[in-house]
Amino acid sequence: MLLLANSEAYPGFETSIDLLKKGEHGLDAMVAGIAHVERDVRVRSVGFGGWPNMLGRMEFDAGVMDGSTREVGSVGAVPDTLPVAALARKVMQTLPHVMLTGDGARRFATETGFSIDETLYEDSKRVWWERLEKELGPEGIKQFPDVPLAPLSKTITDPERVRDTTVFLCSDARQGIHTATSTSGWAWKYPGRLGDSPIPGAGFYADSRYGAAACTHTGEMTMRCSTARTVVLALKLGYSLGDAIKLAVEELAELTEGFLAGVVIHAIDAKGNHEVVNFRCPGDIAYWYWDETMSAPEKRAAKTV
Ligand code: ASP
Repeated sequence: MLLLANSEAYPGFETSIDLLKKGEHGLDAMVAGIAHVERDVRVRSVGFGGWPNMLGRMEFDAGVMDGSTREVGSVGAVPDTLPVAALARKVMQTLPHVMLTGDGARRFATETGFSIDETLYEDSKRVWWERLEKELGPEGIKQFPDVPLAPLSKTITDPERVRDTTVFLCSDARQGIHTATSTSGWAWKYPGRLGDSPIPGAGFYADSRYGAAACTHTGEMTMRCSTARTVVLALKLGYSLGDAIKLAVEELAELTEGFLAGVVIHAIDAKGNHEVVNFRCPGDIAYWYWDETMSAPEKRAAKTV
């Protein structure tokens, strides 16, 4: 058994370990851990502590993949709902669909017993409004929200608020390799924008025969390169874990037009190896790791390429 997650995972990582040790299905273990991350306001990029879209509304993305069956559930741009990784799991278990978005996802949440929550944290609201006032100026703010939002989209690159996700990957006691994601997406994103966290193949992918991968940071990069799927397919083709990630990084590095920014790839293979690689993200990137030989999880540093 092993569990790998990015640095935001600390509020829920040990919950997931405990459930894995009890022999729970890995997706249930990870979704339970992620629910703690989603509720914790110290995590400023996921769930309640995250940042709203340009209209000041929280829209959450999440995805889960069962590597043994290759079943996927995902939700995108869901308003007023937590926990959303659990909602993605519910989509997988209940519907003949893979993905629900927006109002349809909220409707499904109500049907399946998720309460309607206030998900905009007071401090996020304050920062969003101050930024909006600065961007629009005294005249523009009087017109809000009846203003064109597209010119504001440059603010989504705000280096202080940027973006992140929580990603969990595990190998469970049932020989399953699975992955789950959750995020509030980019701060000040255009309403309706989906990142890669709900997109199978881009933000996450798992196949118990070979391994799993999940990405954080710029979904606009991984969606163009199917990054998570690239890693797992390369494992299937016989690449080592390091070479599989290298291949995915080469694909990202070949993008030269459009919006370009960094990506962190987290990956595990069916032999028990793991690797976390930072491709062009500023600063030091850390991750959490635990396997059954360890008495406690460790925070480790990602490799930079
Ligand atoms: N990958 C996510 C997205 O593009 C956010 C992040 O991990 O930074 O929405």
